[in-house]
Amino acid sequence: MTNQNVVVPDARKGIGITIAMALSKSLLSPFVPKLLPAAPDGCFTISRKMFSKKTETEGKTHSWVDSMRDSSPTRAKPTTSLSETEEKNTWIVNHPSALNMFEQIVNGSKGKQIVMFLDYDGTLSPIVEDPDRAFMTNEMREAVRDVGRYFPTAIVTGRCRDKVYSFVRLAGLYYAGSHGMDIKGPSKNSCRNKKDYQDVLFQPASEFLRMIDEVYNVLLERTKCIPGAKVEDNKFCISVHFRCVEEKMWATLVERVRSVLNGYPKLRLTQGRKVLEIRPTIKWDKGKALEFLLESLGYANSTDVLPVYIGDDRTDEDAFKVLRSRGQGLGILVSKVPKETNASYSLQEPTEVKDFLRRLVEWKRSTLQGQCRV
Ligand SMILES: [Mg+2]
Repeated sequence: MTNQNVVVPDARKGIGITIAMALSKSLLSPFVPKLLPAAPDGCFTISRKMFSKKTETEGKTHSWVDSMRDSSPTRAKPTTSLSETEEKNTWIVNHPSALNMFEQIVNGSKGKQIVMFLDYDGTLSPIVEDPDRAFMTNEMREAVRDVGRYFPTAIVTGRCRDKVYSFVRLAGLYYAGSHGMDIKGPSKNSCRNKKDYQDVLFQPASEFLRMIDEVYNVLLERTKCIPGAKVEDNKFCISVHFRCVEEKMWATLVERVRSVLNGYPKLRLTQGRKVLEIRPTIKWDKGKALEFLLESLGYANSTDVLPVYIGDDRTDEDAFKVLRSRGQGLGILVSKVPKETNASYSLQEPTEVKDFLRRLVEWKRSTLQGQCRV
């Protein structure tokens, strides 16, 4: 951080207003080349238009950083105030634990086909410092495998489809990578009933592949001097992980990412939990992927289906919204802290997700055994 005088000429009065302000090099960086040369007294001279553009940029950066902070709570606070406790209690009443409400949930599913949709990071695996090591436990893999035996099951993630498959390693599932922009069904060999097999492959953002690749390489270069920043190529989208970046550097990171995207109006910036996401501006998200998969499974207009979507991320809200607007299915948010959400239920962490999946399998098995005895 350096202190510099900035001269802002008043175009109407023809006089300069000198404003002493602390400017970080990073805040000025998108503009510095246009501001030079500096005046003899060392001041930069910028136009009113440029000044207002800069302050607008600062404002946007601050709101991004605030949003990153809100959506990336590192852990539940060890002590909470009375108002925070009340807030949490109210939130739990409005978004009760899916484990506590298990009986009501399965009773409501009678006569309906449950279809499972599972986010990966923060839902099936814990959020870890190195996103390349976000492994799921063997117990979780068994729980997901068993769920997939009884219910059509899809993994819906912002990650590259191949990457998430390398973590999950279960052939009988649907995988929707790149925020649903890369959907593939199970292989024929993994299907029990081969005559019902349908090859599902859907990639609505294929035309963006080259652009995404180009931006990925530029972002690698522009963020390499920010300690802890990690850029991940997710094929049809890009993730910039900031889980290992010190909070004081978040503004710099956002500015760099946004300045790169200025040259690519067909890409947009969103954010998830401890990650910035760059994706095509096409109207496609996890909610659209959920609808596409239901349709592929033959449940587009069915009233006999109960989609269950479990996720922890802001990007999962698109799927929760779809369930709300359909008036069908259950959205379950994985979170230890109260968050604004369109989900109906909550689970605190991946271990609770595993418990919920196991109970679902046990309930289904006992239901089928009961039917066999009749
Ligand atoms: Mg997630």
